Amino acid sequence: MDFITNLIWHDGKFLGVEWSAWKGIGYAGTVIFFSRFLLQWYATERKKQVVVPQAFWWLSLTGALLLFTYSVHQRDSVFIVSYGFTWIPYIRNIIIHRRHKDAHTDCAGCGQKIPPQANYCPNCGGKVV
Ligand SMILES: [Zn+2]
Repeated sequence: MDFITNLIWHDGKFLGVEWSAWKGIGYAGTVIFFSRFLLQWYATERKKQVVVPQAFWWLSLTGALLLFTYSVHQRDSVFIVSYGFTWIPYIRNIIIHRRHKDAHTDCAGCGQKIPPQANYCPNCGGKVV
């Protein structure tokens, strides 16, 4: 019991951590960055196929920017390089997601969105004209 109490409250601080606004930014970045895996896992289990939702890239971008900000504050070159360039594929994937979504057409029969290369509506089976 003493071990657990000492772990939670150490050196007069919660978890023995010197808390600051910068630590808040760093931890927020870590939590947001990690949450993308839970989201992706959930989306994949739901569809029973590997899916990467657009929100995955937004969580990646947000988490990476927070961690990059924290790393600059810490002046840790390894950490800065780790998060300094990851935004490039994140933004590119967000753009591709948007373009793909915009390329969908509306089904004349049922009004549902039809994927760009489809010849038939996946909802009602109507031929795409
Ligand atoms: Zn349809």
